[in-house]
Amino acid sequence: MFLHPLRQPGHYLFIVPAAAAALVLWQATPGSDVGRSSQAVLPWLLASLGCGLALAYHRVRALCLLLLVVTAFSLLHSEVGSWLRSGRIDPLTPLRFHALSAWLPLLFALHALWPERGRTRRELLLRATVTSAGPALFVLLAAQSPQAMHDLLSDRHWGWLPAHWSRLAQLPTLLFVIAALALGWQAWTRPRPLHSAMLLGLLALWWMLPRVFLQPALLPALSSAALLLLIAAVLQEGFHMAFRDELTGLPGRRAFNEYVQRAGAQYSIAMVDVDHFKIFNDTHGHDTGDDVLRLVAARLAAVAEDGRAFRYGGEEFALVFLDRSAAECLDAVAAVREDIAGSRMQLRDRSTRSRDDATGRQRRGTGGCGPMVQVTVSIGLADSDVGPARQVVKAADQALYAAKGDGRNCVRCHRAPVAATQARA
Ligand code: GH3
Ligand code: MG
Ligand code: MG
Repeated sequence: MFLHPLRQPGHYLFIVPAAAAALVLWQATPGSDVGRSSQAVLPWLLASLGCGLALAYHRVRALCLLLLVVTAFSLLHSEVGSWLRSGRIDPLTPLRFHALSAWLPLLFALHALWPERGRTRRELLLRATVTSAGPALFVLLAAQSPQAMHDLLSDRHWGWLPAHWSRLAQLPTLLFVIAALALGWQAWTRPRPLHSAMLLGLLALWWMLPRVFLQPALLPALSSAALLLLIAAVLQEGFHMAFRDELTGLPGRRAFNEYVQRAGAQYSIAMVDVDHFKIFNDTHGHDTGDDVLRLVAARLAAVAEDGRAFRYGGEEFALVFLDRSAAECLDAVAAVREDIAGSRMQLRDRSTRSRDDATGRQRRGTGGCGPMVQVTVSIGLADSDVGPARQVVKAADQALYAAKGDGRNCVRCHRAPVAATQARA
């Protein structure tokens, strides 16, 4: 089965080191040491590194979330630190704690759900203004009447809501629940490493908050884990952008070049080109052409046995078979051609297609299908006996031209024996 790469488990492996780092930090930090200023070094280091990366990649959401997490960490660190040093709780600590517990999920969800648009500088300014306006107003009100603000945040306002399962006060709990549901929905409906990292980061902070005075080591451990998750997601998405083709989800040309360079002594390359695709585009439209490229990519990824599929560019794909000569791949390649030629591809009905993603997703599979189409591909095959990688690609391309010249919908092999070149349906 072909899973879109953004839904493949391998794309979320970045979560593992963040979780491992949190565990190691938690185990290695004695609770009594947490108040020391040296304990703030790692989260600030991570936040600086992450902010630099987020700026370089123009990831404003990640940048704001990193700043939010490290700010929350610093505020809590100073409260927990003064309690650990003096053994006393400041009279205003409960108010500050409840305020942080309420503002953190609110601001976290605000940035996480606010789509990135416009220029980086303008967006940063807008986000900074919106983010600071609410808490600034709250600080003003809390300075006027601290008790009223404390009661607002800590009282049980809705008696009918279950309360005992959460260690936080009712209002902060409710805000965390709403934020987690919204981020969970976002991560489920629009799978992306950053969306998963934001959800997990929020859950880590939610878990940590009510426990920071009981188990202070959780503070640097889980704050660092949330920061690491965001950094790793930014890196993972950068890697994805560089190596994956956005339209089909297959690895792109850069990934192909790298894969071939590392392929070893024996390998084969099949260049696959959709036949008469220009006419197809002209007849059905470019968007329908895109759908067909996605379907061809899915067939290639699913059918090509142990061959690896890449989108080489335009309507051209490549299959790479490691440790196999061209003659050994011929059957697999012929099967791919046959499979594509024999598939009727059901297109989406673009005339009634909803512009809204969610409605579109609901309608999927409930009728409203577009036309059934059929495409064929021509394939040129060559192996590493030809010479270095560039020459193998060139040879496969020449074989592809030969396949086109021979009427298309067929496989031609570079320097192939006569029997092999007649592998035509
Ligand atoms: P041939 O059988 O000789 O390969 O003919 P062809 O029409 O497939 O080849 P040609 O090179 O003349 O045209 C390729 C077409 O592929 C032209 C271009 O519009 C289309 N194409 C390239 N990339 C994309 C894409 O990403 N989406 C869509 N829809 N069309 C694309
Ligand atoms: Mg073509
Ligand atoms: Mg072409």
